[in-house]
Amino acid sequence: MLIDLHPLLSQTGKVKRLEAELNMESFHMKSSSYPIVAKKPMILEFTNIGDSKVEIKADIDIELDIPCGRCLESVRTQLKIETLREVNLSGDISEEEAALDEMDFIEGTDFDATKFAYGEILVNLPMKVLCSDSCKGICNRCGKNLNHGSCGCDTTELDPRMAKALEVFKSFKEV
Ligand SMILES: [Zn+2]
Ligand SMILES: [Zn+2]
Repeated sequence: MLIDLHPLLSQTGKVKRLEAELNMESFHMKSSSYPIVAKKPMILEFTNIGDSKVEIKADIDIELDIPCGRCLESVRTQLKIETLREVNLSGDISEEEAALDEMDFIEGTDFDATKFAYGEILVNLPMKVLCSDSCKGICNRCGKNLNHGSCGCDTTELDPRMAKALEVFKSFKEV
């Protein structure tokens, strides 16, 4: 959703409030994608603070299904983001600012609500989500979720040399 901020620039102190529907069903990243299971429209408030600068206040409230970092079961994770940003719409941003690409959600005087929300969600994503602090994870042999009971695998760590010897032993047995 694009919001033209040009009319706002006519007068310092002018405020524009609106709600923007988040038109994403899931949150995609390079290596993974999380379904969005609940969301509220993003609440936006733009204020002309003078010198072609606009202050952006945004409230984002969504719920994502994120896999548990140990057992991979999905965990409903609510993200409530309140953010305050300042953008310069004069068009002459420094090369430094351009290099940082901090403002990829601004194109001319258009504000891209979806791109903005994406960036805010990305920086606010929890590093690691756990279904519970006592999650037992999955068996690294058979992949069973150990929260549902043990699998009976022998998980004693083998000395690499021992493992090699055991392999040789096994291959003899197969002959
Ligand atoms: Zn878990
Ligand atoms: Zn197992």
